[in-house]
Amino acid sequence: VIPYRDGAWQQGEVKAYGPLMLDPSASALHYGQAIFEGFKAFSQPDGSIKTFRPEANAERFNRSARRLAMPDLPVDLFMEAADLLINLDAAWVPKNVGESLYLRPLMIATDAFLGVRPSNEYLFVLFASPAGAYFPQGVKPVTVWISEDYVRAAPGGTGEAKCAGNYAASLVAQAQAQEKGCDQVVWLDAVERRYIEEMGGMNLFFVYQEEGKSVIVTPELTGTLLPGITRRSLLELARDLGYESSERKLTVQQWRDDVAAGRLTEVFACGTAAVITPVGKAKANGFELSINNGQNGPVTMALREALLAIQHGTVEDRHHWMHQV
Ligand code: PMP
Repeated sequence: VIPYRDGAWQQGEVKAYGPLMLDPSASALHYGQAIFEGFKAFSQPDGSIKTFRPEANAERFNRSARRLAMPDLPVDLFMEAADLLINLDAAWVPKNVGESLYLRPLMIATDAFLGVRPSNEYLFVLFASPAGAYFPQGVKPVTVWISEDYVRAAPGGTGEAKCAGNYAASLVAQAQAQEKGCDQVVWLDAVERRYIEEMGGMNLFFVYQEEGKSVIVTPELTGTLLPGITRRSLLELARDLGYESSERKLTVQQWRDDVAAGRLTEVFACGTAAVITPVGKAKANGFELSINNGQNGPVTMALREALLAIQHGTVEDRHHWMHQV
């Protein structure tokens, strides 16, 4: 826990996990100055512990902070806090492939006042929780609901930031997806309501067959979707595996037409929590689309294996993504 006041980060302290004391008028509770991150620590074959691209999370945390008129947290301090916590909690880092220690950094505004203005006081909190395998029964494709009734992020809004409010705005759509028998929401752009953006907690990828090659395509960063660290990593990893990768605009109509024409053969979602999840079916008001006969696709699974191998230290970390704790 590291407090911020008088324009500076103060001495932090390690505390046992437990409730935080907040004033009822703490501005995070009213005006939503609350940002967070999520990344993982993995046990390595030599018994050491490494985190996956924590600097990227620290940098995204600061971009979120700036968007919410909150102070930057020096990247070194973020990294130091994470390493300290992981070393203290080393016994909690699971050893099995697919398991990890999940780290949750959080910054909230704690200043007690009722006027609408940026807070002068903040609290940075970092805690950890062991994460089991996302698919303990083996990888299984999910069904997604393309949301036409709600939007997640508008141009000029906070869609690019990892802030609490974005998730608050998503919950009703997630509940609707579940009512429709789906696991996750697919968000469309707020202006034309036809470009595919991302999912509730993951970025989306589409596998195209173009001139005899597999090309992985992901919606370009327009300022309204979260720039996922897994997304960024897969764009690079795809090239290592001999695929091409590209960032483009893609509409729901194209998705339907390209699946029908056999050009679009796989769809998957990616993020820190699930790594890579195949998408087997997409539904919306008035249509339903089956992708790869609802099966796990070969490109999806190859990318998933390649990323997990780097994270668990069973192949060379050629992109220098892993950080020794
Ligand atoms: N989009 C949203 C809305 C998310 O919450 C997440 C999870 N952080 C992602 C995408 C994937 O990002 P990452 O790969 O950095 O976990």
